[in-house]
Amino acid sequence: MVAEVNSGHVAEHLADVLARIGLAARRVGRDPAGVRLVAVSKGVPVEPLRAALSAGARLFGESRLQEAVEKMAAIGAPDGVSWHFIGQLQRRKVKAVVGAFALIHSVDNLDLAEEIDRRAAAAGLTQSVLVEVNLGGEASKAGVAAGDLIQAVQRMDRLPHLAIRGLMVIPPPADDPERTRPYFRELRSLSESLAGMGLTRSRMDELSMGMSHDFEIAVEEGATLVRVGTAIFGARHG
Ligand SMILES: *Cc1c(COP(=O)(O)O)cnc(C)c1O
Repeated sequence: MVAEVNSGHVAEHLADVLARIGLAARRVGRDPAGVRLVAVSKGVPVEPLRAALSAGARLFGESRLQEAVEKMAAIGAPDGVSWHFIGQLQRRKVKAVVGAFALIHSVDNLDLAEEIDRRAAAAGLTQSVLVEVNLGGEASKAGVAAGDLIQAVQRMDRLPHLAIRGLMVIPPPADDPERTRPYFRELRSLSESLAGMGLTRSRMDELSMGMSHDFEIAVEEGATLVRVGTAIFGARHG
C-alpha cells in the first residue's frame, strides 16, 4: 500500500529514516553525524513540511523553483533551517536560486556554472554547489558524463563565486537497491580522484547519493547527504 501525503505519520517516518541512517553508518564504522538528511519536500504541501520541521528536520530539498519559493515564504526562516535545490536548473532561473538555496546539487554543465558564478558575483556572495554526474550513461538523464568530469570540474574550479563542495548522482532506477551500490562506489572513487588533483577552490567533502529505496546502501558507500522524500512524506501526487 502506498501512503498518502499527510502530516499524520511524518514524525514517525522521519525518526525511522534517521534510525536507519544511523544503523547503516555504524555497520561500516561511520559516525552517523557525518550523514545529513535532506528531506525532499517537492510536491509536498506546507502542512506535512511543518510536521517534519517540528519533528526536527532542518534541511529541505526542492526541485521546482516556484513551489519552493512559496513554501520558503510560508515557513519563514526558523532556527537552522536551510534549503537545497536538487532539481534540474534552467539558466533563466539561476538568478532566483542563487543565495536562496544553501546548496545546489545539480550543476551539470559549464554554461550553468558560469551563470551561477555571474549571478553570485552580482549578489556579492559565493554559491555552494555539487556537480551532478551521469554514471548510468542514460541519454535522457542530467549530469556530466564520468569521462568529462575532470575537465568540467577543472574549468568550474576557476570560477571565483562558485564553491564546488562535492558530487551528486541519481543512478538508473532499479528494483533491487543493491544494484545501485556500484554507482555509489564509482561516485566516491571519482570524488577521491578529484580531491587528489589539487583543485584550487573546490572541495570534495560531500557525496549526495541515496533516495528512499537505497539510502542505506548509499550511507554504507560514503554518502554525506541523502535525499529522501517518499519514505518521509509518503507518495507524491503529481
Ligand atoms: C524526488 C527526488 C528525490 C527523492 O526521491 P524519493 O524516492 O521520494 O526519496 C531525491 N533526489 C532527487 C534529485 C529527486 O528529484
